Amino acid sequence: MTAYPFDAPASQDLLDRALAVTPGGVNSPVRAFRAVGGTPRFMVSGEGPYLKDADGREYVDLVCSWGPMILGHGHPAVVDAVREAVSRGFSFGTPSENEVALAEEIVARVDPVEQVRLVSSGTEATMSAIRLARGFTGRSLVVKFAGCYHGHVDSLLAQAGSGVATFALPDSAGVPKEMAAETIVLPYNDLGAVEAAFAERGAEIAAVITEASPGNMGVVPPAPGFTEGLRRVTAAYGALLISDEVMTGFRCSEAGWFGLEGPYTAGAPDLVTFGKVMGGGFPAAAFGGRADVMALLAPLGPVYQAGTLSGNPVATAAGVTTLRHCTPDLYTRLGEVADAITATVDQELSRAGVPHVVQRAGSMFSVFFRDQPVTSYHEAKAQHVPAFSAFFHSMLSQGVYLPPSAFESWFVSGAHDDAAVDRVLAALPAAASAAAGAFATIDV
Ligand SMILES: *Cc1c(COP(=O)(O)O)cnc(C)c1O
Repeated sequence: MTAYPFDAPASQDLLDRALAVTPGGVNSPVRAFRAVGGTPRFMVSGEGPYLKDADGREYVDLVCSWGPMILGHGHPAVVDAVREAVSRGFSFGTPSENEVALAEEIVARVDPVEQVRLVSSGTEATMSAIRLARGFTGRSLVVKFAGCYHGHVDSLLAQAGSGVATFALPDSAGVPKEMAAETIVLPYNDLGAVEAAFAERGAEIAAVITEASPGNMGVVPPAPGFTEGLRRVTAAYGALLISDEVMTGFRCSEAGWFGLEGPYTAGAPDLVTFGKVMGGGFPAAAFGGRADVMALLAPLGPVYQAGTLSGNPVATAAGVTTLRHCTPDLYTRLGEVADAITATVDQELSRAGVPHVVQRAGSMFSVFFRDQPVTSYHEAKAQHVPAFSAFFHSMLSQGVYLPPSAFESWFVSGAHDDAAVDRVLAALPAAASAAAGAFATIDV
């Protein structure tokens, strides 16, 4: 077993307690550090760009709760909004104003979205969007792309990214064969494969779902024309196009990835899913799109969808306040922070002679430890994972918290000021050397 630069006794004690009562000690698999080894850090607080763990160590946070904390931890305006909402009650099980305000904010920002329905997680959003697409088209097949993660929906776990990629699982156990047979998995960025699938079974395909710009196999943006091509093919066969913006939504721009790449001349996506940033760190997510499609949802139409805590007044207060602070200035700052970090990552890995490519989608970025650009899941997997682990542990020991997997995006926030960025930059030379050491000694 690799020796880690320092241990974390308080986190280890918490992990031991957790292991007794929770599978793997965690409530979401990638958190367990299984891919990189070592003790997962139990965090006790977050402030601005920093996290503090149970052992009292401080880290510059480049995970940002996997995206939601775009304003940094404990942004004062969000804290005030949450306090104010909590003071009036936690949950009513009735409509309330904050959920209208959050829906209005989303509809105002993302052109193709005429109506939204709020849910509590990204998984619920994609699951509901798929059901709606099937209800609308009266068809059952769904096309997804290898390496794209859409939450842990049964039919969408085939060759999924995120934790499924981290642990190199082919698929998940517990998904019936019949369910998996409803999903066609194609290589990302391969429009020819999409055209061929539609030529064969187009009349049975309800929808194509794609990450607007994939971030769950590392950052692998769509090739020029790919999204546009998906729009063209789906429209030609009467299938819906579902753009999963759970990660990219309000992260890549004020209008998400669509704000950067769309609007397409072939038309907008029919449905869009959101989560992460729009909840501001609370459980709020959404799916939305064309009004005529959304009109099929209960209570207007026959497609059932519901939630006890959907549109929760505290979560929606956090979400709407977060979105209102997602201004053009914020995205300018996120871009500057991403520029500074990616440039130095590139420079230091080059200096250390480590094969790498840095890929970006707006301020989202990740590093692949290989020398060729990555356009698909197949290519993402062909990287030197032990080099990432060595890099990760070096950064961790120097107080920088990266995603504990080579297959995840890094996230920055508006609270990452120059002092926080400088701490990241200062840690990179040693991390690059550690990666070089792993390359030299571990064959993959
Ligand atoms: C995170 C994510 C999901 C799932 O969201 P949860 O809130 O974790 O259920 C779905 N799609 C994409 C693109 C994601 O990044």
